[in-house]
Amino acid sequence: MSKKADVYFGSIQQGQEALFAALAAKVERIIELLDFSTIEKRDKVAIKMHLGFQDGFQTVPVFFVRRVVQAIKDVGGWPFITDNPTSVYNAAARGYTQETCGCPLIPAAGVKDGYTCKSKINYRNVKELDMSGVLHDANVLVDITHAKGHANCGYGGAIKNIALGGYSGSSRWSRMHQVEQSVHYWDSEKCTQDHAKALVKACPYNIIVYDAKKHELKIRAFGCRNQLCLECLKVDKDVGCLQIKPEFFAAFQELMAIAAKKILDTFDKNKLFFLNFALQVTPHCDCMGMAQPSVVPDIGVLGSRDIVAIETATLDLIDKAGLIEQAIPPYFKHANLDPNADLHPFERLWGPMKNPYQVTEFAEQHGLGVRDYKLIEILSPEETSKMKPPKQAYEREPSFY
Ligand code: SF4
Repeated sequence: MSKKADVYFGSIQQGQEALFAALAAKVERIIELLDFSTIEKRDKVAIKMHLGFQDGFQTVPVFFVRRVVQAIKDVGGWPFITDNPTSVYNAAARGYTQETCGCPLIPAAGVKDGYTCKSKINYRNVKELDMSGVLHDANVLVDITHAKGHANCGYGGAIKNIALGGYSGSSRWSRMHQVEQSVHYWDSEKCTQDHAKALVKACPYNIIVYDAKKHELKIRAFGCRNQLCLECLKVDKDVGCLQIKPEFFAAFQELMAIAAKKILDTFDKNKLFFLNFALQVTPHCDCMGMAQPSVVPDIGVLGSRDIVAIETATLDLIDKAGLIEQAIPPYFKHANLDPNADLHPFERLWGPMKNPYQVTEFAEQHGLGVRDYKLIEILSPEETSKMKPPKQAYEREPSFY
């Protein structure tokens, strides 16, 4: 039986109106428990984040990031923040700068996204990927993640932050996001040109594309609402040339686990740290570049040295918190609004074929960590409610610090 991995959790809920009971104190405590003492002096510490994109600002607040940066400096490490080039170059628009974060911001694959090294993948139609040279060069990885939904796989967390964000843009878009095309789902011989056009028309999300010259039909998997929609299959029922099947989505989840493993394997196991922020849990990932409603109540922060355990615990807490039905955007026309449905909130949004736990199952199989975890809540509302209340201190004059 595998040993349970520790996952530290600080809830957004607090036991009294006091700084010691609030989230910042919990983040600091979790950083202490993660124990950065395995970071050696002058280690180059990559803090992999998603810094948002365009108007998408619901990422991990710089307020917390700078505390992680300071804790790394305190043990003698040399931290830097890294993400895809565009998100780094325009990060200042969302409040992330060297001055605010306390360390440099460096594009993950160099100035033109070409500083990479080949990583052999050999999974389905993905032979190799171009791994971020900057992550490859680093001695330590601190994976700071905004937990949220994701159109391809239901959930975007710590594994996705590394798996997608740890490779060049062309690897991400032209290879990883094409892996589902390796699953046979369309029979060209059974499908006439007119039928193919009818299938394109049937999809309310415009994600079926057809090239009449090549007689080639494709479903762009990341927009497919699968079993919650199935409008295409209604049109196809007398022809039977199209299938929407779980392998379609599972392939992406397994590829994420494999791609993340390749990156984690470049680090010493004692130099891997994970922090998940389950705040402003939006339906889509941060690549959308726009503000979105939070569809799950704020939960808090989690920390672990095991990427699989932290992902499983985050998903369990999201499941427990549940969906805020009235916050679901109207364009989620096929969301499951039944709170009693035996589905994870992300399956209610994105469809039951996008089981968000699947990535953790694949990750465990591929040796990234263990799903079994011990949740250790720190400074719980119960605990802080019993702590000695602070003496009220009001600012009597403007203070600089
Ligand atoms: S299931 Fe719905 S969203 Fe998916 S391809 Fe078919 S029509 Fe489009």
